[in-house]
Amino acid sequence: MADVILKNINKIYPNGVQAVFDFNLDIKHGEFIVFAGPSGCGKSTTLRMVAGLEEISSGELYIDGKECSTLSPKDRDIAMVFQNYALYAHMTVYHNMAFSLVLRKEKAEIIHERVMEAAKILGLVPYLNRKPKQLSGGQRQRVALGRAIVRNPKVFLLDEPLSNLDAKLRGVMRKELSTLHSKLGTTFIYVTHDQIEALTLADRIVVMKDGYIQQVATPKDIFDYPDNIFVATFIGTPPMNLYEGVYEEGYFVTGNSKIYVGEDNIKLLDQYGYNGKTVIMASRPEYVYVDDAHLAEYEKSSFTFDVDYSELLGSHTLVYGEFEGHRVIIKRPFDQTIKTKTAKAAFDPAKLLFFDKETTNRIKDGSDK
Ligand code: ADP
Repeated sequence: MADVILKNINKIYPNGVQAVFDFNLDIKHGEFIVFAGPSGCGKSTTLRMVAGLEEISSGELYIDGKECSTLSPKDRDIAMVFQNYALYAHMTVYHNMAFSLVLRKEKAEIIHERVMEAAKILGLVPYLNRKPKQLSGGQRQRVALGRAIVRNPKVFLLDEPLSNLDAKLRGVMRKELSTLHSKLGTTFIYVTHDQIEALTLADRIVVMKDGYIQQVATPKDIFDYPDNIFVATFIGTPPMNLYEGVYEEGYFVTGNSKIYVGEDNIKLLDQYGYNGKTVIMASRPEYVYVDDAHLAEYEKSSFTFDVDYSELLGSHTLVYGEFEGHRVIIKRPFDQTIKTKTAKAAFDPAKLLFFDKETTNRIKDGSDK
């Protein structure tokens, strides 16, 4: 277990591309940290700098209190698991897991003990004599994890380890990774472009874009209090509904509709001088309602919209519509489509968020999340 501290880390590749800008993060020992963001945002580069596979252009890296930015990978006490798990085809599962310890000239009993322990944790005991091609994708990925576990590292670095698996297996492996992390209690740093993996696995998510950190927070806070429009739309499926309009005296005005924004938002928007200004209002599809009880409760924040279509997704239904020229998506219980051409819906004003149109940052109080 180890703390990992990244301080003012930058990465400029030899061809002049700056992939990471001033990256600062304190990772607590035992934490499950996920770097999330679209392809090319600098996630892998950052992870590879922690691993020592990529040189750090400037900044400091501490693992367990020790400055390691110039140490070679083998001296950093980390283990890395890649998307392409690259098992040795001619070796059995047992020998694939044992190999790094053999190279390190560990004693045979210790190697056996560690391999058996990892195999037990990962449910691989029945497969120890098989070759990789006799295994399923999920089992192979478990062997790759096993190779990392036997080394008993202070930090696990995982780079998109599930992206070669089909959707169903990814779900199963997510659960297994989570259990594995609890069992080992080791620090995990995990890279993914998949926001579902980020939300389900992380203690904290680091959302990145164009080499910059956008937000570091728990999945719940990222979901409920995204710091900017990028984070608001990257995390969550379906994405947040966004509406452009003007804030006027307690109401958000767009076209012919007026939405009451609730006491807290009024205080905030007034305090920061947004009265009469264009803002972006956002709501999660989870917090838009069409049932009678909520319509009555949030009458002042209700609106009429054109119903386009409903998507039945098994566990829930998404109703898509148009509200004053903006897309509105409403999440409903699974059997509740809307058959009429128009319908009434209401926002929970306490769940509405507002973003500055120019900076795209969320308008928030200093003491706010
Ligand atoms: P991600 O993991 O988020 O997809 P990467 O860290 O792989 O992103 O890449 C970040 C940026 O750095 C991209 O613009 C990518 O093209 C660039 N990059 C990655 N590796 C190299 C390299 N070896 N040389 C030059 N540029 C690179």
